[in-house]
Amino acid sequence: MYNPKSSNAEEFICHEEILDTLHYAEQNSKNAALIDQIIEKAKLRKGLSHREASVLLACELEDRNQEVYHLAEQIKKDFYGNRIVMFAPLYLSNYCVNGCVYCPYHRQNSHIARKKLTQDEIRKEVIALQDMGHKRLALEAGEDPQMNPIEYILESIETIYSIKHKNGAIRRVNLNIAATTVENYRKLKEAGIGTYILFQETYHKESYETLHPTGPKHNYNYHTEAMDRAMEGGIDDVGLGVLFGLELYRYEFAGLLMHAEHLEAAFGVGPHTISVPRLRRADDIDPNAFDNGIDDDTFAKIVACIRVAVPYTGMIVSTRESQKCRERVLHLGISQISGGSRTSVGGYVEEEPEEENSAQFDVSDTRTLDQVVHWLMTMGYIPSFCTACYREGRTGDRFMSLCKNGQILNCCHPNALMTLKEYLEDYAAPDTRRIGEALIARELEAIPNPKVKSIAAQNLKDIATGSRDFRF
Ligand code: SAM
Repeated sequence: MYNPKSSNAEEFICHEEILDTLHYAEQNSKNAALIDQIIEKAKLRKGLSHREASVLLACELEDRNQEVYHLAEQIKKDFYGNRIVMFAPLYLSNYCVNGCVYCPYHRQNSHIARKKLTQDEIRKEVIALQDMGHKRLALEAGEDPQMNPIEYILESIETIYSIKHKNGAIRRVNLNIAATTVENYRKLKEAGIGTYILFQETYHKESYETLHPTGPKHNYNYHTEAMDRAMEGGIDDVGLGVLFGLELYRYEFAGLLMHAEHLEAAFGVGPHTISVPRLRRADDIDPNAFDNGIDDDTFAKIVACIRVAVPYTGMIVSTRESQKCRERVLHLGISQISGGSRTSVGGYVEEEPEEENSAQFDVSDTRTLDQVVHWLMTMGYIPSFCTACYREGRTGDRFMSLCKNGQILNCCHPNALMTLKEYLEDYAAPDTRRIGEALIARELEAIPNPKVKSIAAQNLKDIATGSRDFRF
Protein backbone atom coordinates (compact mmCIF):
# COMPACT_ATOMS: atom_id res chain seq x y z
CA MET A 1 0.00 0.00 0.00
CA TYR A 2 2.83 2.47 0.87
CA ASN A 3 4.17 3.94 -2.33
CA PRO A 4 6.26 7.14 -2.30
CA LYS A 5 5.79 7.55 -6.06
CA SER A 6 2.03 7.34 -5.97
CA SER A 7 -0.06 10.42 -6.66
CA ASN A 8 -2.61 9.29 -4.08
CA ALA A 9 -2.17 11.00 -0.69
CA GLU A 10 -3.07 7.88 1.25
CA GLU A 11 -0.39 5.88 -0.51
CA PHE A 12 2.52 8.33 -0.20
CA ILE A 13 1.48 9.28 3.34
CA CYS A 14 0.52 5.80 4.40
CA HIS A 15 -1.04 5.55 7.88
CA GLU A 16 0.08 1.93 8.38
CA GLU A 17 3.64 2.78 7.34
CA ILE A 18 3.70 5.63 9.88
CA LEU A 19 2.38 3.35 12.63
CA ASP A 20 5.01 0.72 11.76
CA THR A 21 7.68 3.42 11.74
CA LEU A 22 6.65 4.68 15.17
CA HIS A 23 6.65 1.15 16.53
CA TYR A 24 10.09 0.45 15.04
CA ALA A 25 11.44 3.76 16.41
CA GLU A 26 10.03 3.02 19.87
CA GLN A 27 11.52 -0.47 19.92
CA ASN A 28 14.92 0.85 18.92
CA SER A 29 14.97 3.97 21.06
CA LYS A 30 17.83 2.51 23.14
CA ASN A 31 19.47 0.41 20.43
CA ALA A 32 22.94 1.98 20.51
CA ALA A 33 24.29 -0.06 17.59
CA LEU A 34 21.46 0.90 15.25
CA ILE A 35 21.49 4.53 16.38
CA ASP A 36 25.24 4.75 15.76
CA GLN A 37 24.75 3.29 12.31
CA ILE A 38 22.10 5.91 11.51
CA ILE A 39 24.29 8.72 12.83
CA GLU A 40 27.14 7.48 10.63
CA LYS A 41 24.82 7.53 7.63
CA ALA A 42 23.66 11.05 8.53
CA LYS A 43 27.30 12.17 8.59
CA LEU A 44 27.48 11.43 4.85
CA ARG A 45 25.10 14.42 4.50
CA LYS A 46 22.88 12.68 2.00
CA GLY A 47 19.88 12.53 4.29
CA LEU A 48 17.95 9.83 6.11
CA SER A 49 14.75 7.94 5.46
CA HIS A 50 11.66 8.69 7.57
CA ARG A 51 12.31 5.45 9.48
CA GLU A 52 15.91 6.24 10.29
CA ALA A 53 15.14 9.81 11.28
CA SER A 54 12.24 8.61 13.44
CA VAL A 55 14.65 6.40 15.39
CA LEU A 56 16.83 9.43 16.09
CA LEU A 57 13.79 11.41 17.20
CA ALA A 58 12.77 8.61 19.58
CA CYS A 59 16.35 8.02 20.81
CA GLU A 60 16.57 7.88 24.62
CA LEU A 61 20.37 7.72 24.85
CA GLU A 62 21.48 11.17 25.94
CA ASP A 63 25.02 10.98 24.57
CA ARG A 64 23.64 9.97 21.14
CA ASN A 65 21.13 12.82 21.27
CA GLN A 66 24.01 15.22 21.89
CA GLU A 67 25.79 13.75 18.88
CA VAL A 68 22.75 14.44 16.73
CA TYR A 69 22.64 18.06 17.95
CA HIS A 70 26.30 18.53 17.10
CA LEU A 71 25.87 16.94 13.71
CA ALA A 72 22.82 19.12 12.97
CA GLU A 73 24.84 22.21 13.81
CA GLN A 74 27.72 21.05 11.63
CA ILE A 75 25.49 20.19 8.66
CA LYS A 76 23.86 23.56 8.96
CA LYS A 77 27.24 25.29 8.89
CA ASP A 78 28.41 23.21 5.93
CA PHE A 79 25.37 23.81 3.76
CA TYR A 80 24.12 27.21 4.83
CA GLY A 81 27.15 28.79 6.48
CA ASN A 82 26.19 31.44 9.01
CA ARG A 83 23.63 33.15 6.80
CA ILE A 84 20.06 33.59 7.98
CA VAL A 85 17.55 34.67 5.36
CA MET A 86 15.06 37.31 6.51
CA PHE A 87 11.41 37.67 5.54
CA ALA A 88 8.09 39.04 6.77
CA PRO A 89 4.54 37.77 6.40
CA LEU A 90 1.96 40.05 4.79
CA TYR A 91 -1.67 39.26 5.57
CA LEU A 92 -3.92 40.23 2.68
CA SER A 93 -7.29 39.06 3.95
CA ASN A 94 -8.67 37.07 6.85
CA TYR A 95 -11.98 36.23 5.23
CA CYS A 96 -12.27 32.45 5.33
CA VAL A 97 -14.96 29.88 4.64
CA ASN A 98 -13.24 27.00 6.44
CA GLY A 99 -13.95 25.72 9.92
CA CYS A 100 -10.38 24.96 11.14
CA VAL A 101 -10.81 24.58 14.90
CA TYR A 102 -7.32 25.94 15.78
CA CYS A 103 -7.47 29.07 13.61
CA PRO A 104 -9.33 32.25 14.58
CA TYR A 105 -10.16 32.92 10.91
CA HIS A 106 -12.68 30.07 11.02
CA ARG A 107 -16.05 30.93 9.60
CA GLN A 108 -17.97 30.71 12.87
CA ASN A 109 -15.84 33.39 14.49
CA SER A 110 -18.17 36.37 14.41
CA HIS A 111 -16.20 38.71 16.65
CA ILE A 112 -12.83 38.77 14.90
CA ALA A 113 -12.52 41.90 12.74
CA ARG A 114 -12.73 40.78 9.10
CA LYS A 115 -10.48 42.74 6.80
CA LYS A 116 -9.30 42.54 3.23
CA LEU A 117 -6.70 44.94 1.90
CA THR A 118 -7.46 46.98 -1.21
CA GLN A 119 -4.63 47.41 -3.72
CA ASP A 120 -4.05 50.87 -2.30
CA GLU A 121 -3.81 49.48 1.22
CA ILE A 122 -1.40 46.80 -0.02
CA ARG A 123 0.75 49.56 -1.46
CA LYS A 124 0.88 51.26 1.95
CA GLU A 125 1.71 48.03 3.76
CA VAL A 126 4.47 47.25 1.27
CA ILE A 127 5.97 50.71 1.62
CA ALA A 128 5.96 50.23 5.40
CA LEU A 129 7.71 46.86 4.94
CA GLN A 130 10.22 48.31 2.48
CA ASP A 131 10.96 51.10 4.96
CA MET A 132 11.83 48.46 7.53
CA GLY A 133 14.27 46.92 5.03
CA HIS A 134 12.40 43.82 3.91
CA LYS A 135 12.98 42.40 0.43
CA ARG A 136 11.16 39.09 0.76
CA LEU A 137 7.54 38.52 1.78
CA ALA A 138 5.30 35.58 2.52
CA LEU A 139 1.75 36.48 1.49
CA GLU A 140 -1.00 35.02 3.65
CA ALA A 141 -4.74 34.83 3.11
CA GLY A 142 -7.73 32.89 4.32
CA GLU A 143 -9.62 30.69 1.88
CA ASP A 144 -12.67 32.42 0.49
CA PRO A 145 -13.39 31.98 -3.22
CA GLN A 146 -15.72 34.99 -3.24
CA MET A 147 -13.67 37.43 -1.17
CA ASN A 148 -10.16 36.23 -2.03
CA PRO A 149 -10.40 34.72 -5.52
CA ILE A 150 -7.21 33.87 -7.41
CA GLU A 151 -7.57 37.09 -9.42
CA TYR A 152 -7.27 39.09 -6.19
CA ILE A 153 -4.12 37.22 -5.21
CA LEU A 154 -2.61 37.67 -8.69
CA GLU A 155 -3.40 41.37 -8.75
CA SER A 156 -1.89 41.77 -5.28
CA ILE A 157 1.35 40.06 -6.35
CA GLU A 158 1.59 42.39 -9.34
CA THR A 159 1.00 45.40 -7.11
CA ILE A 160 3.67 44.27 -4.66
CA TYR A 161 6.35 43.73 -7.30
CA SER A 162 5.58 47.11 -8.89
CA ILE A 163 6.26 49.23 -5.80
CA LYS A 164 9.66 50.92 -5.72
CA HIS A 165 9.78 53.31 -2.81
CA LYS A 166 13.11 55.09 -2.22
CA ASN A 167 15.68 52.25 -2.48
CA GLY A 168 13.08 49.68 -1.44
CA ALA A 169 11.84 46.73 -3.48
CA ILE A 170 10.16 43.44 -2.74
CA ARG A 171 12.19 41.05 -4.83
CA ARG A 172 10.62 37.75 -3.85
CA VAL A 173 7.01 37.05 -2.98
CA ASN A 174 6.35 33.66 -1.43
CA LEU A 175 2.79 32.59 -1.04
CA ASN A 176 0.85 30.74 1.66
CA ILE A 177 -2.70 30.26 0.44
CA ALA A 178 -5.10 27.34 0.42
CA ALA A 179 -4.71 24.33 -1.83
CA THR A 180 -5.86 25.10 -5.35
CA THR A 181 -5.95 23.79 -8.92
CA VAL A 182 -3.09 23.10 -11.35
CA GLU A 183 -4.41 25.92 -13.51
CA ASN A 184 -4.23 28.40 -10.63
CA TYR A 185 -0.75 27.22 -9.65
CA ARG A 186 0.31 27.86 -13.22
CA LYS A 187 -1.06 31.40 -13.01
CA LEU A 188 0.77 31.95 -9.73
CA LYS A 189 4.01 30.73 -11.28
CA GLU A 190 3.52 33.15 -14.17
CA ALA A 191 2.89 35.95 -11.67
CA GLY A 192 6.38 35.30 -10.33
CA ILE A 193 5.87 33.72 -6.93
CA GLY A 194 8.91 32.27 -5.21
CA THR A 195 8.01 29.41 -2.90
CA TYR A 196 4.48 28.07 -2.63
CA ILE A 197 3.98 27.25 1.04
CA LEU A 198 1.17 25.13 2.38
CA PHE A 199 1.14 23.62 5.83
CA GLN A 200 -0.32 20.19 6.08
CA GLU A 201 -1.45 21.03 9.64
CA THR A 202 -1.59 17.30 10.42
CA TYR A 203 -0.78 14.21 8.36
CA HIS A 204 -3.17 12.11 10.44
CA LYS A 205 -6.20 11.79 8.18
CA GLU A 206 -8.80 11.12 10.85
CA SER A 207 -7.59 14.00 13.03
CA TYR A 208 -7.30 16.21 9.97
CA GLU A 209 -10.97 15.68 9.19
CA THR A 210 -11.99 16.44 12.77
CA LEU A 211 -9.81 19.54 12.94
CA HIS A 212 -11.20 20.78 9.61
CA PRO A 213 -14.87 19.92 10.03
CA THR A 214 -16.27 22.20 7.33
CA GLY A 215 -15.25 24.02 4.17
CA PRO A 216 -13.07 23.01 1.22
CA LYS A 217 -10.07 22.39 3.50
CA HIS A 218 -11.95 19.41 4.98
CA ASN A 219 -10.84 17.33 1.98
CA TYR A 220 -7.64 15.62 3.23
CA ASN A 221 -6.57 14.17 -0.10
CA TYR A 222 -7.07 17.41 -2.02
CA HIS A 223 -5.00 19.27 0.58
CA THR A 224 -2.26 16.65 0.84
CA GLU A 225 -1.90 16.36 -2.94
CA ALA A 226 -1.62 20.15 -3.37
CA MET A 227 2.16 20.13 -3.79
CA ASP A 228 1.84 17.62 -6.62
CA ARG A 229 -0.53 19.99 -8.41
CA ALA A 230 1.80 22.93 -7.68
CA MET A 231 4.68 20.98 -9.25
CA GLU A 232 2.49 20.12 -12.21
CA GLY A 233 1.70 23.82 -12.57
CA GLY A 234 5.42 24.57 -12.79
CA ILE A 235 6.15 25.65 -9.21
CA ASP A 236 9.23 23.70 -8.20
CA ASP A 237 9.98 25.50 -4.93
CA VAL A 238 7.44 24.28 -2.41
CA GLY A 239 7.39 24.67 1.36
CA LEU A 240 6.03 22.03 3.70
CA GLY A 241 5.09 22.27 7.38
CA VAL A 242 2.85 20.88 10.08
CA LEU A 243 1.24 22.78 12.91
CA PHE A 244 2.83 21.18 15.96
CA GLY A 245 0.37 20.77 18.81
CA LEU A 246 -2.51 19.28 16.83
CA GLU A 247 -1.40 15.62 16.69
CA LEU A 248 1.37 13.43 18.14
CA TYR A 249 4.63 15.03 17.06
CA ARG A 250 6.30 11.75 16.12
CA TYR A 251 3.46 10.96 13.75
CA GLU A 252 3.76 14.40 12.14
CA PHE A 253 7.53 14.11 11.87
CA ALA A 254 7.32 10.81 10.00
CA GLY A 255 4.55 12.20 7.76
CA LEU A 256 6.55 15.31 6.95
CA LEU A 257 9.58 13.28 5.88
CA MET A 258 7.42 10.90 3.87
CA HIS A 259 5.99 13.92 2.08
CA ALA A 260 9.54 15.10 1.29
CA GLU A 261 10.44 11.59 0.06
CA HIS A 262 7.34 11.57 -2.11
CA LEU A 263 8.27 14.86 -3.84
CA GLU A 264 11.77 13.59 -4.41
CA ALA A 265 10.50 10.24 -5.78
CA ALA A 266 7.74 11.68 -7.95
CA PHE A 267 9.33 14.93 -9.18
CA GLY A 268 13.05 14.51 -8.53
CA VAL A 269 13.12 17.52 -6.20
CA GLY A 270 12.48 17.68 -2.49
CA PRO A 271 10.81 20.56 -0.65
CA HIS A 272 12.59 23.92 -0.77
CA THR A 273 11.69 24.63 2.84
CA ILE A 274 10.12 23.06 5.89
CA SER A 275 8.39 25.27 8.47
CA VAL A 276 7.94 24.25 12.07
CA PRO A 277 5.05 26.34 13.44
CA ARG A 278 3.69 25.61 16.90
CA LEU A 279 0.10 26.34 17.87
CA ARG A 280 -0.32 29.76 19.52
CA ARG A 281 -2.98 31.62 21.43
CA ALA A 282 -5.26 33.60 19.13
CA ASP A 283 -8.56 35.48 19.20
CA ASP A 284 -10.88 32.63 20.21
CA ILE A 285 -8.25 29.90 20.32
CA ASP A 286 -6.71 28.53 23.51
CA PRO A 287 -3.72 26.26 22.73
CA ASN A 288 -4.23 24.50 26.06
CA ALA A 289 -7.44 23.05 24.68
CA PHE A 290 -5.27 20.89 22.40
CA ASP A 291 -3.58 17.84 23.92
CA ASN A 292 -0.46 17.52 21.83
CA GLY A 293 1.56 20.62 22.64
CA ILE A 294 5.32 20.10 22.65
CA ASP A 295 7.88 21.65 24.99
CA ASP A 296 10.98 23.57 23.89
CA ASP A 297 13.30 20.56 24.28
CA THR A 298 11.15 18.42 22.00
CA PHE A 299 10.87 21.31 19.56
CA ALA A 300 14.68 21.63 19.43
CA LYS A 301 15.05 17.89 18.91
CA ILE A 302 12.59 17.96 16.00
CA VAL A 303 14.54 20.79 14.34
CA ALA A 304 17.84 18.92 14.75
CA CYS A 305 16.39 15.66 13.38
CA ILE A 306 14.87 17.43 10.37
CA ARG A 307 18.23 19.08 9.71
CA VAL A 308 20.12 15.78 9.56
CA ALA A 309 17.32 14.02 7.64
CA VAL A 310 16.96 16.58 4.81
CA PRO A 311 20.19 18.59 4.65
CA TYR A 312 19.28 20.41 1.41
CA THR A 313 15.97 21.73 2.66
CA GLY A 314 15.84 25.19 4.23
CA MET A 315 14.08 25.44 7.57
CA ILE A 316 11.90 28.32 8.73
CA VAL A 317 10.97 29.52 12.19
CA SER A 318 8.54 32.40 12.63
CA THR A 319 7.84 34.94 15.36
CA ARG A 320 5.44 32.42 16.89
CA GLU A 321 8.58 31.49 18.83
CA SER A 322 10.28 33.62 21.47
CA GLN A 323 13.73 35.14 21.10
CA LYS A 324 15.12 32.49 23.46
CA CYS A 325 13.63 29.58 21.57
CA ARG A 326 14.66 31.01 18.21
CA GLU A 327 18.18 31.46 19.47
CA ARG A 328 18.34 27.80 20.38
CA VAL A 329 17.01 26.41 17.11
CA LEU A 330 19.06 28.74 14.91
CA HIS A 331 22.09 26.71 15.94
CA LEU A 332 20.37 23.45 15.13
CA GLY A 333 19.40 24.07 11.55
CA ILE A 334 17.07 27.02 10.96
CA SER A 335 18.04 28.95 7.84
CA GLN A 336 15.19 31.49 7.52
CA ILE A 337 13.41 33.64 10.08
CA SER A 338 10.84 36.40 10.03
CA GLY A 339 11.38 39.69 11.80
CA GLY A 340 9.20 42.61 12.83
CA SER A 341 6.14 40.57 11.84
CA ARG A 342 2.50 41.57 12.18
CA THR A 343 -0.12 38.86 11.81
CA SER A 344 -3.03 41.28 11.47
CA VAL A 345 -4.45 42.50 8.18
CA GLY A 346 -3.02 45.99 7.64
CA GLY A 347 -0.85 45.77 10.75
CA TYR A 348 2.32 47.30 9.31
CA VAL A 349 0.74 50.69 8.63
CA GLU A 350 -0.91 51.03 11.97
CA GLU A 351 -1.30 48.97 15.09
CA GLU A 352 -4.84 47.77 15.64
CA PRO A 353 -6.89 48.86 18.62
CA GLU A 354 -7.64 45.81 20.79
CA GLU A 355 -11.36 45.78 19.98
CA GLU A 356 -10.53 45.51 16.28
CA ASN A 357 -8.25 42.49 16.37
CA SER A 358 -7.78 40.77 12.99
CA ALA A 359 -4.61 38.87 13.90
CA GLN A 360 -4.11 35.20 13.14
CA PHE A 361 -2.17 34.47 16.31
CA ASP A 362 -0.15 36.23 19.01
CA VAL A 363 3.51 36.60 18.15
CA SER A 364 6.11 35.82 20.83
CA ASP A 365 9.02 37.68 19.32
CA THR A 366 7.82 41.27 19.07
CA ARG A 367 11.16 42.92 18.30
CA THR A 368 11.65 45.22 15.33
CA LEU A 369 13.48 43.97 12.24
CA ASP A 370 16.47 46.13 13.17
CA GLN A 371 16.62 44.56 16.63
CA VAL A 372 16.49 41.09 15.09
CA VAL A 373 19.23 41.97 12.58
CA HIS A 374 21.38 43.39 15.39
CA TRP A 375 20.81 40.33 17.56
CA LEU A 376 21.71 37.92 14.73
CA MET A 377 24.95 39.73 14.03
CA THR A 378 26.02 39.80 17.67
CA MET A 379 25.74 36.00 17.56
CA GLY A 380 27.94 35.89 14.43
CA TYR A 381 25.14 35.25 11.90
CA ILE A 382 24.82 37.15 8.63
CA PRO A 383 21.25 38.38 8.16
CA SER A 384 20.64 37.94 4.43
CA PHE A 385 18.09 39.79 2.31
CA CYS A 386 19.14 37.81 -0.74
CA THR A 387 16.58 36.78 -3.36
CA ALA A 388 19.05 35.93 -6.12
CA CYS A 389 18.43 32.23 -6.70
CA TYR A 390 14.86 32.56 -7.75
CA ARG A 391 15.57 35.64 -9.85
CA GLU A 392 18.41 33.79 -11.59
CA GLY A 393 16.16 30.81 -12.24
CA ARG A 394 17.92 28.67 -9.65
CA THR A 395 14.78 27.01 -8.36
CA GLY A 396 13.93 23.37 -7.68
CA ASP A 397 16.78 20.97 -8.44
CA ARG A 398 18.99 23.80 -9.78
CA PHE A 399 19.07 25.32 -6.31
CA MET A 400 19.67 21.90 -4.78
CA SER A 401 22.67 21.32 -7.04
CA LEU A 402 24.18 24.65 -5.92
CA CYS A 403 23.92 23.33 -2.38
CA LYS A 404 25.21 19.90 -3.27
CA ASN A 405 28.22 21.29 -5.16
CA GLY A 406 29.31 23.35 -2.18
CA GLN A 407 29.00 26.62 -4.14
CA ILE A 408 27.16 28.40 -1.33
CA LEU A 409 30.31 30.21 -0.19
CA ASN A 410 30.99 31.56 -3.67
CA CYS A 411 27.41 32.52 -4.37
CA CYS A 412 25.03 32.82 -1.43
CA HIS A 413 27.67 34.18 0.92
CA PRO A 414 28.63 37.23 -1.20
CA ASN A 415 24.95 37.79 -2.04
CA ALA A 416 24.17 37.83 1.68
CA LEU A 417 26.93 40.36 2.33
CA MET A 418 25.82 42.64 -0.50
CA THR A 419 22.17 42.63 0.55
CA LEU A 420 23.14 43.15 4.18
CA LYS A 421 25.21 46.12 3.05
CA GLU A 422 22.12 47.57 1.33
CA TYR A 423 20.21 47.13 4.57
CA LEU A 424 22.93 48.87 6.59
CA GLU A 425 23.07 51.78 4.15
CA ASP A 426 19.33 52.32 3.87
CA TYR A 427 17.63 51.21 7.08
CA ALA A 428 19.92 50.28 9.97
CA ALA A 429 20.21 52.07 13.30
CA PRO A 430 23.75 53.45 13.93
CA ASP A 431 24.84 50.63 16.22
CA THR A 432 23.47 47.95 13.90
CA ARG A 433 25.39 49.59 11.09
CA ARG A 434 28.59 49.66 13.10
CA ILE A 435 28.60 45.94 13.87
CA GLY A 436 27.34 45.14 10.39
CA GLU A 437 30.23 46.90 8.67
CA ALA A 438 32.74 45.00 10.81
CA LEU A 439 30.95 41.73 10.08
CA ILE A 440 30.98 42.33 6.33
CA ALA A 441 34.71 43.19 6.36
CA ARG A 442 35.42 39.96 8.23
CA GLU A 443 33.14 37.75 6.17
CA LEU A 444 34.41 39.01 2.82
CA GLU A 445 37.60 37.14 3.60
CA ALA A 446 35.69 33.86 3.76
CA ILE A 447 34.88 33.90 0.01
CA PRO A 448 37.16 31.18 -1.46
CA ASN A 449 37.16 32.19 -5.14
CA PRO A 450 39.50 35.24 -5.55
CA LYS A 451 37.61 36.56 -8.57
CA VAL A 452 34.25 36.41 -6.78
CA LYS A 453 35.84 38.02 -3.75
CA SER A 454 37.17 40.97 -5.72
CA ILE A 455 33.86 41.52 -7.58
CA ALA A 456 32.00 41.38 -4.26
CA ALA A 457 34.43 43.89 -2.72
CA GLN A 458 33.88 46.29 -5.62
CA ASN A 459 30.10 45.85 -5.44
CA LEU A 460 30.17 46.62 -1.72
CA LYS A 461 31.98 49.88 -2.47
CA ASP A 462 29.45 50.71 -5.16
CA ILE A 463 26.57 50.06 -2.79
CA ALA A 464 28.09 52.62 -0.41
CA THR A 465 27.95 55.19 -3.20
CA GLY A 466 24.34 54.47 -4.14
CA SER A 467 24.25 51.42 -6.49
CA ARG A 468 21.83 48.62 -5.62
CA ASP A 469 20.76 45.10 -6.48
CA PHE A 470 23.96 43.23 -7.31
CA ARG A 471 23.85 39.47 -7.32
CA PHE A 472 25.78 36.35 -8.27
N1 SAM B 1 -5.68 29.58 4.48
C1 SAM B 1 -4.45 29.06 4.01
C2 SAM B 1 -4.38 27.57 4.24
O1 SAM B 1 -5.44 26.97 4.30
O2 SAM B 1 -3.33 26.97 4.30
C3 SAM B 1 -3.33 29.90 4.50
C4 SAM B 1 -2.75 29.55 5.78
S1 SAM B 1 -2.78 30.51 7.19
C5 SAM B 1 -2.89 32.16 6.71
C6 SAM B 1 -1.18 30.17 7.71
C7 SAM B 1 -0.98 29.08 8.72
O3 SAM B 1 -1.12 29.59 10.02
C8 SAM B 1 -1.91 27.91 8.71
O4 SAM B 1 -1.58 26.98 7.71
C9 SAM B 1 -1.76 27.34 10.10
O5 SAM B 1 -0.82 26.30 10.16
C10 SAM B 1 -1.23 28.50 10.90
N2 SAM B 1 -2.11 28.82 12.04
C11 SAM B 1 -3.46 28.87 12.07
N3 SAM B 1 -3.89 29.10 13.31
C12 SAM B 1 -2.81 29.18 14.11
C13 SAM B 1 -2.60 29.38 15.51
N4 SAM B 1 -3.62 29.54 16.35
N5 SAM B 1 -1.34 29.37 15.98
C14 SAM B 1 -0.29 29.21 15.16
N6 SAM B 1 -0.42 29.03 13.83
C15 SAM B 1 -1.66 29.00 13.31
